[in-house]
Amino acid sequence: MNSAIDFIRSSVTQGLSIAVVSHKNPDGDSLGSLLAMGLSLEKLTKNVIFVKPDIIPEDYLFLPGLEKMKKIDDINTDIAVLIVLDCSDPDRLGLNKILFESSKKIINIDHHISNTKFGDINIVVPESSSTGEIVFDLLSKAEFPIDTEIATCIYTAISTDTGRFSYESVTKNTHLIISKLYDFGINGYNINKNLYQKRSLSRTKLFILAVSNLKFYEDGKIAIAKVTKDMYSKTNAHPDETEGIVEFLRDTDGVEVACLLKELNNNDIKLSLRTKEYVDANKICSLFGGGGHIRASGASSTETIEETEKMLLQEINKYL
Ligand code: 5GP
Ligand code: MN
Repeated sequence: MNSAIDFIRSSVTQGLSIAVVSHKNPDGDSLGSLLAMGLSLEKLTKNVIFVKPDIIPEDYLFLPGLEKMKKIDDINTDIAVLIVLDCSDPDRLGLNKILFESSKKIINIDHHISNTKFGDINIVVPESSSTGEIVFDLLSKAEFPIDTEIATCIYTAISTDTGRFSYESVTKNTHLIISKLYDFGINGYNINKNLYQKRSLSRTKLFILAVSNLKFYEDGKIAIAKVTKDMYSKTNAHPDETEGIVEFLRDTDGVEVACLLKELNNNDIKLSLRTKEYVDANKICSLFGGGGHIRASGASSTETIEETEKMLLQEINKYL
């Protein structure tokens, strides 16, 4: 971490351009970490570029700093320092991957066990609950600015990546950080209302439809829900409105592996896996070219949704 801090500090002093970027299909941790890092650096230098990762899901539209984000087409890609946050490999950057090729120095800050250490400087801490937790530790150690807005972004990152502070990855440090965020003036209740109490009606309808078609296998150890294209049209929901479905399946007693198969296009299926005690989700998703964490991973498939389900069941069965 010290070498990253020294490098960032000297880049700020020299007035070099610093871009912050994260993965496509953004979530709370990727957006919160990107914004926290960018907003803090922006208090030290004018040369910070906030790269828009993709469409921003509605849950996160309240986050401070989103208006600073620029699409890749509107950015001069000749960047001195690229800080990549919450991203296990360069392919996860989607269209923004060109920055990976055009930037002079890459700093990789992440907590995925599947991280490929693609940076010139890598701060990869798989034990960390979230990239937000690493960002807070970095900003604190470096004595870079933290204000209420930055603290709000970090709270969002940590809360969303820990299932509201409930996962195995949560430690005393996680809670210590949250308590310090209150010292920076966050309003926890407001953040929680924004994150968790503004679900659109279309999303609720999609949730009900997906859950009502769920299937159990292997004495209830595996639960699979599918979201198909016709479900989006029936409910008026957008494909990014599936958050919470796979966690709901996992929370059934006896379920070890919960899976969500999401049809984006005919041969473009997104997989989400959650496990409870002993199955390594990262291992299974890596067979499909994806990755993530031991208890939460994702991947994509170019087979049909039915074929993907068959292949996935075969793989999971090897670990039960
Ligand atoms: P989710 O199921 O919520 O999309 O993702 C769960 C975890 O797996 C997240 O940490 C996410 O970054 C990671 N993940 C999701 N999809 C992919 C993928 O296609 N490739 C890789 N390497 N990681 C993924
Ligand atoms: Mn994360």
